[in-house]
Amino acid sequence: MKLKIAFFLLLGFLVHGQSPYPQDAFESPLDIPLILAGTFGELRSNHFHSGLDIKTQSREGLSVKSIGPGTVTRIKISHWGYGKVIYIAHPNGYTSVYAHLQKFAPKIEEYIKKKQYEKQTYEIELFPDYGELTVNKGELIAYGGNTGGSSGPHLHFEIRNSLNEKPINPLLFGYSIRDATDPTLVGAYAYPLSEDAQVNRANTKIQLNIKRQADGSFVADTLNAAGTIGFGIDTYDRQDMAANKNGPYAITQKVNGEVYSDLDFDSFSFAETRYLNTLIDYEHFGKTYQRVQRCFKVPGNNLSIYNTLKNDGKLEIAEGETYDVDLQIKDLAGNTTVLKVPVKGKRLPLEINESPKKTDYYLIAQKPNNYDLGIARVYFPANTFYNDFYIDLSSDEKTVTIHQNTVPAHRNFTISFDVSHIPVDERKQWFVARLDSRLRPDYSNTYKRNNTFTTRTRQLGTYTLAKDTIAPKVRTKNFKPKQWLTNYRYLSLLISDDLSGIDSYSATINGEWILMEYEPKTNTLTYNFDDKILDKTECELEVVVKDNVGNTTTFKSTFFRK
Ligand SMILES: [Zn+2]
Repeated sequence: MKLKIAFFLLLGFLVHGQSPYPQDAFESPLDIPLILAGTFGELRSNHFHSGLDIKTQSREGLSVKSIGPGTVTRIKISHWGYGKVIYIAHPNGYTSVYAHLQKFAPKIEEYIKKKQYEKQTYEIELFPDYGELTVNKGELIAYGGNTGGSSGPHLHFEIRNSLNEKPINPLLFGYSIRDATDPTLVGAYAYPLSEDAQVNRANTKIQLNIKRQADGSFVADTLNAAGTIGFGIDTYDRQDMAANKNGPYAITQKVNGEVYSDLDFDSFSFAETRYLNTLIDYEHFGKTYQRVQRCFKVPGNNLSIYNTLKNDGKLEIAEGETYDVDLQIKDLAGNTTVLKVPVKGKRLPLEINESPKKTDYYLIAQKPNNYDLGIARVYFPANTFYNDFYIDLSSDEKTVTIHQNTVPAHRNFTISFDVSHIPVDERKQWFVARLDSRLRPDYSNTYKRNNTFTTRTRQLGTYTLAKDTIAPKVRTKNFKPKQWLTNYRYLSLLISDDLSGIDSYSATINGEWILMEYEPKTNTLTYNFDDKILDKTECELEVVVKDNVGNTTTFKSTFFRK
C-alpha cells in the first residue's frame, strides 16, 4: 500500500514570508486535527464567512480550549446566528471567538446561569468586566455544539483585531492544515459590459467552453469579443481530509501578463460584508443558487478585498488585437488552479441580442422611491439597491409582488398593507407574510399602526396578509404526566406553531421561574435539573408558549422527584 504523503504546511509562513501576524502565539482550539468544513472569506448568504468552520467528528461535546491567555469580553446566547458564543480578548491585541457551542465550561456556565436566572431569560448577551472571567492558554472554555444557525456539529472559530473588530483569516496565524488539493474550477463566464459589447456573437453573459489539460490547468476555446468585457468564475476549494466545498483564498486575473484584478481573504470588515452581493453575479445566484464571482468590479461594490485593480478588472477589446487572459485561483497552501482564455478582438453579427426587460417603473437607486400598488405601498430608501434598473411591481386582490430574487437589496425597505377592510377586533391574528417558493406564507415581522400593517425586509418577492388562529402546540418529550423523575437529568418538551411561528416561551415549577433552553431546529425546550434545588416531591410544571400574533398555550403537568 502506498502511503500518501502528508503535507503539513505552516500556511501563513509559506504564503506570507513576512506574515504580519504572530505565528506561534496561539494554540489550537481543539485537541483533534483541524479539518475544515468552511474557510475564511467563503461566499455565504449575504456575507463572507468570517472564520473557520472546524469539523468536530460529527458530534457535540468536544472540548473547546482558549487559544491563548485572556479575558472573556462577551458572551451571547441566541436561538439564531452564532447560538452560544464566547469572545476572549488576548493581551497581544487579538480576540478569539468560538461559536455554535453546546455549553460552556463549569465556571463560565455558572456565571451565565446566574445572570439568566436574574433576568429570567435564556437568550442573553453579557459583557464581563475586564479581568472578571480570565482564562489561561489551553484552558477548557466550552464544549463544541450545533446551536444557532448551524446545520451540523462544528466549531465556528474566528480571530479578530480587538481594536477594530475586523476578522482576520485564522490560517495566517500559523495553524497547520493538510492541503495538497488544488482549487476546483466548476465553470467560467464571459460578460459583455458596455452597450456595444459582445462575446461570441452574444450581447449577454455566456458560459465558456473549458478543457482540462494534462498538467491540471484549464484552457477555454478562443473567445471572439468586442467592447468592454469581463470574466467570472464558479469555484471552490477542498482540503485533503474532507469533501467539503470551501472557499479559495485568492483570485488573480492577468491580461497579457499584467494584473487586472487581484483579491484575497486576509481580512475584511463586518460593515462591508454584505457587498458580497456585488461581487457575485446575483442574477445567476437568484436563478441557480450558484455563486459566480466576478473578476471585475461593478458600481456599488465597496469591498476592500482588492490588492490591485486595473480598469476595475474590465478589458477594453480592440478589433484585430489578441489578449491572453490568465485566471489563477489559489488556496492558502499555495495550490493553484489556472484557466487561460485566449481572446480575439472580432466584432461579428449578433446571434443572441437581448435587451433588458422594461417595466413601468425605472428605479433610480440613489433616490428614495415610493410606489402605490393599491392594497399596499412599497418604500425603498435611497441606496436600497446598487444600481438603477427596471423594477417589476405588480399586485392583485391579495398579493403584491416586488420584483424577484434576481436583484439584491442592500438595505431594508418597507411594505405597508392597508388593513381597513379587516374588522378591528380581528386584526390581532393577522400579519404580513412572504410567500415562499411553495407559496406558503412565512411570517414577516409586522408593525401594526392604525389601518396599516408594515414590514421591513430586504427580500424581494411576493407578500400578502395572512391570519393565524391556532395557538402553539406543547407536549412532553422525555416524560409522562405523574411520572417519577428522580434519576432524570433533563426535562424536555416539544413546542411548535403551525403558521406565524414561536415568539416567546416561559416556564415555572411550583410557581418559580426555571431556565428552559430552546433549540428551534428540534423544536425542543430543555430544563436541566441541576439548575435549581426542588424542595417539593410533587412538582407542578407550567409552560406558556406564545406565537408571533399572540395566540397563547398554557401547558401544565405534574411530576414527582425525590
Ligand atoms: Zn462558520
